[in-house]
Amino acid sequence: MNFDHMMPQDPFADDPNDPASFLEDEEQVPALDAHERAQVNEDLRIVKECKRYLAPRGMRGIFFLCEDCENTHYYDWDIMESNMRASLKGELPPVHEPSAEPDVHAYVTWDYALGYLDGLAGR
Ligand SMILES: [Zn+2]
Repeated sequence: MNFDHMMPQDPFADDPNDPASFLEDEEQVPALDAHERAQVNEDLRIVKECKRYLAPRGMRGIFFLCEDCENTHYYDWDIMESNMRASLKGELPPVHEPSAEPDVHAYVTWDYALGYLDGLAGR
């Protein structure tokens, strides 16, 4: 999990052209290279597993301590999925919008989610 893809990116970074995008008015972020795309696709696959297996067990998403603002951020699986899809399309993910009083007990760390999935798979 690379939280760079969850965070707002430098709007002044060079190379804003995503050949897949036709929307000139959209804010653009540097296109992911092949390695980054693979990484985001892998994270996306995991998030889908989380939605399928962890959400029914009461886990709504992840939390992590943000180094930028030193707050804890909570992300629902759906928000993570849309952020990752935005990254793949070269769009700025809509982040840093605090959830309205999230139920903090319903969120786990990314590592915990990975470990839980491994446990379910018998790994
Ligand atoms: Zn933050």
